[in-house]
Amino acid sequence: MHYLSTRDRTLHFTAAEAIKQGLSRDGGLFLPEMLPALSARQIKAMESMSYQERAVEIMSLFLEDYSREELRAFADAAYSPEKFDDPAVAPVRSLDAATHSLELWHGPTSAFKDMALQMLPHLLYASLKKTGEEKTACILVATSGDTGKAALEGFRDVDHTKIMVFYPKDGVSEIQKLQMVTQEGSNVSVYAVLGNFDDAQTGVKRIFSDEAIRAQLLERGYFLSSANSINWGRVLPQVVYYVSVCCDLVRDGKLKEGEKVNLCVPTGNFGNILSAYYAKCMGAPIGRLICASNRNDVLTEFLRTGVYDRNRPFYTTMSPSMDILISSNLERLLYALSDGNDAEVRSYMKQLNAEGRYQVSDTVLAKVRKLFWAGSCGEEDTMDTIRRYYTQRNYLMDTHTAVAAHVLEQYRAESGDGGPAVIVSTASPYKFCSPVLRAIGAVPAGDGVELIAQLQEATGVKAPWRLAELGGKAVRFTESTEKHAMEQVVLDYLN
Ligand SMILES: *Cc1c(COP(=O)(O)O)cnc(C)c1O
Repeated sequence: MHYLSTRDRTLHFTAAEAIKQGLSRDGGLFLPEMLPALSARQIKAMESMSYQERAVEIMSLFLEDYSREELRAFADAAYSPEKFDDPAVAPVRSLDAATHSLELWHGPTSAFKDMALQMLPHLLYASLKKTGEEKTACILVATSGDTGKAALEGFRDVDHTKIMVFYPKDGVSEIQKLQMVTQEGSNVSVYAVLGNFDDAQTGVKRIFSDEAIRAQLLERGYFLSSANSINWGRVLPQVVYYVSVCCDLVRDGKLKEGEKVNLCVPTGNFGNILSAYYAKCMGAPIGRLICASNRNDVLTEFLRTGVYDRNRPFYTTMSPSMDILISSNLERLLYALSDGNDAEVRSYMKQLNAEGRYQVSDTVLAKVRKLFWAGSCGEEDTMDTIRRYYTQRNYLMDTHTAVAAHVLEQYRAESGDGGPAVIVSTASPYKFCSPVLRAIGAVPAGDGVELIAQLQEATGVKAPWRLAELGGKAVRFTESTEKHAMEQVVLDYLN
């Protein structure tokens, strides 16, 4: 199977090349030329498989240049009991007969990014070998909090790689920051950017498209690659858990044969919900894709009206991983919904670049509205939702998950569709202790690590051990950079 660019469908790459490069040179995103179909029989057979086995089944359909044995070894290493604190890897908790929470945060950094970023380094390292690459891959990451730590943890001490992470100085939670600045490993570095997440992401994209810098780095033995969700190697492992949750629900009698499950996904860069869309296209029994945004509701407007307009205030919220105005992965959806019309995608992206706005055709909008439903949730509703689920159902959720839980309620009230639904739970509540404590009526006292102890005491819910141990770790990274100076930071580090 070949991979092409959303902005040029005539390009042909192998999976290994697409994963190695991350982003296409024309600024587009890599995509498989077609989506393989899963038959009902194949899905049925997966019901009795482990998560790791399901990962091999699904990923092998897309990665023809990787053998099943290779993928099996990667899945076993990526989702091992040392890495994930739940044997199901992505366990499903039922909150009532029709509402389930898919917990994607049992990995080493307690956010859903681990699901893909524990796998990506294996795929990338193998892709270097398969393509005969002798240079070192330098992974540049812009993070709104969770990607940075998950990428650092995934790539630490991986041969032939270096990783540089840029986070918005005041845009991440205390725990998230502490996780990153205490990162161990000999090939890692972390910088605070004086700006917001979009500034960091724009800076990284600028470096990627700067031919002069690329040439300079090549001379020094480096090439740039990406661990952001624009890399196909990030999107694909996420398709796995959407097929997996369907298998679990059917196996456990919570989804009847022929029935479909709605998915409500807390969304930022659109990578997670895009993976759900792919799983649905492949044949998983998925109904509506419900896109949940926080106060930064650019996607809600887009999915309802077809107008994408980033010219709006940027809000810093208690769900920082969704504080995004440019959702990069939307480009892949536009490609799919315009039936692979790369000229149409180019034109939208050109308008986005020039004016910060575009409006899709009526044809695309009609498809969007059929597939998706969108809603947003403000700060007070986020707090209220955490409180209600905790006091009424004894379920403690983080701020991002709460946004999804609230938007699912909106969807059910407006559509009257009370059918089976999954709330996608993207982070442990322990990554966002302050707002979670306030939501359940406590007064947060102390620094990041003390808050973990306080939340544990208040709720009796056990904190992930890696977070609980953060306090004993030395701070290794204190540097910050102006957003315009990121190029120099890269050149200085890779000297
Ligand atoms: C990254 C992240 C999101 C948003 O996911 P996208 O794939 O960027 O849409 C939501 N919640 C948490 C906790 C995250 O880390």
